[in-house]
Amino acid sequence: MPSDKDFFDCKECGECCKGYGGITVSEKNIKDVSAFINADIQEFIGKYCVNVGNRYILSQKKDGFCVFWKNKLCLIHPVKPKMCKDWPFIANVIKRPEKWLVMAETCPGINRNASLKEVAEYVVKYQS
Ligand code: SF4
Ligand code: SF4
Repeated sequence: MPSDKDFFDCKECGECCKGYGGITVSEKNIKDVSAFINADIQEFIGKYCVNVGNRYILSQKKDGFCVFWKNKLCLIHPVKPKMCKDWPFIANVIKRPEKWLVMAETCPGINRNASLKEVAEYVVKYQS
């Protein structure tokens, strides 16, 4: 049976916390993170989110890193958004396995030699 390590070995470089289209925060994320940092929801959205169309994403600092990235740590690790928790086994890879190689350009932990078919199959299981 394949495991995470067959496809991914995190190098803890922090590059995935540096923008790349933004980290979407769901309504549940907004509630969870607000509670975690002891902010009310409007305060959290105003200080830490950006509205992009019909959704919110986490703000970035001037250096491009996520507003919650500090001293090489995620300040909201226990309640971080689903995309951060799932990375790199994100649902988009199921529909577009070639995205795996695009992600590998910025994430040195991704095994770019893995079969894209096997990656997609693994992500289906991961997400179910
Ligand atoms: S970019 Fe990839 S290897 Fe680097 S910390 Fe993020 S997940 Fe780990
Ligand atoms: S929420 Fe945490 S894991 Fe996600 S991008 Fe921000 S610092 Fe990185």
